[in-house]
Amino acid sequence: MTVELISVGTELLLGNIVNTNANYLSVQCAQLGLSMYHQVTIGDNESRLIEAISTALKRSDIVILTGGLGPTTDDITKESVAKVLNRKIVMDEQSRERIQSYFERITANNSEIPKDIPAITDNNWKQALKIEGSIVVNNEYGTAPGYIVEDKDKIILLLPGPPSEMIPMFENNMLPYLRKLQDKVFVTKMVKVCGIGESTAETMILDLIECQTNPTIAPYAKSGEVHFRITASADSHENAVELIDPIVDELYNRFGKNIYTTDNRTLEEVVVGLLITHNLTLVTAESCTGGLLSGRIVNVPGASDTFTEGFITYSNQAKIKYLNVKPETLRQYGAVSEQTAREMAVGAINASGCDVSIAVTGIAGPGGGSDDKPVGLVYLSCQVAKKVFVSKRHFKGGRKKIREQSVVAALDLVRRSILEEFG
Ligand code: ATP
Repeated sequence: MTVELISVGTELLLGNIVNTNANYLSVQCAQLGLSMYHQVTIGDNESRLIEAISTALKRSDIVILTGGLGPTTDDITKESVAKVLNRKIVMDEQSRERIQSYFERITANNSEIPKDIPAITDNNWKQALKIEGSIVVNNEYGTAPGYIVEDKDKIILLLPGPPSEMIPMFENNMLPYLRKLQDKVFVTKMVKVCGIGESTAETMILDLIECQTNPTIAPYAKSGEVHFRITASADSHENAVELIDPIVDELYNRFGKNIYTTDNRTLEEVVVGLLITHNLTLVTAESCTGGLLSGRIVNVPGASDTFTEGFITYSNQAKIKYLNVKPETLRQYGAVSEQTAREMAVGAINASGCDVSIAVTGIAGPGGGSDDKPVGLVYLSCQVAKKVFVSKRHFKGGRKKIREQSVVAALDLVRRSILEEFG
């Protein structure tokens, strides 16, 4: 089945708010196995909204609208859908009672509202009106209800704009409704790869991508990583998993240790998990990443069980002072060199007493590069037990991208070094 999304709100067109609803609903629809070919954003303008709804109903089986369900005059979604379907707007008694008790609850809990001022304004009652023949969906976190409208072979879902209201309504009501429409079960699995560029990774499995229809394999590039989403449809969960498993095995054959997980964990979660499993403490020594690496590690709940400290040694003096990098090394090889990275990793272990260290030094640019050492050149070094691992990388892109890719490479080097040392 095809689905189309219409996001309603002038503030979306002006760029005042980011359309996070579209992002959320796209992911949800993909997981449901619905094909989304079109997304439209429309301002609070009735004629343009009516046109968008009419077009969507011609080309899609399901139309999902978010926003414009509130009490003010610029909230026109419900009215526009009614016009397109040629249906009346009628009072829904249950919604009326719910709005009444919602406001009574708020008034009772707020001593600052004078009791002689009516809490419910006339336009609040607008939210008790529904499209004739529609199913009203309660809003647990606000006053604007949602609606499900079935019209011949088409389905229209109307959801409130605020994500705090839209998401629970979608998950509790619309999702079970959409699931019942599908006679098939859709199962997805992520295979996350790092240490290989996007185009190389894709080329390595192009034959699989091209010949697969069920399951499908969709690659997604992230900074320094490539994720493959494998989706299978079948008449049961078990049968869908049976279709996915051989593809995952084949991806392991091709990518080997470059696969860091086949679940939803992030790279930093995998690394922190590995360190904790092996009862190892971690110290960071950062130059060009300037704390970004430590920040990613600290994002993981429970990181304090392994991460004890980090050094940001941006200048040569700091590398000498805190990590005991030899001035001679810096003079002879430079701050961005294998030798310096190595001494940073060893120095961090000596200074902290940790079991594992990870050091990063590189040229993030835009200036500072040379023929010998171009912008994007990064050296990483990781000490585990007595062994020191080193990796030389050359990243492309601007300063931000180079720093982000360096963080991924550093996390990956820790992961690979631990696997190498402890299996
Ligand atoms: P309300 O009762 O709050 O008026 P509504 O259904 O009429 O709800 P809108 O008025 O369109 O929704 O939007 C209310 C707020 O919800 C917006 O100001 C914005 O903060 C948020 N919002 C609306 N649409 C989106 C969206 N697509 N993505 C993220 N946030 C959104």
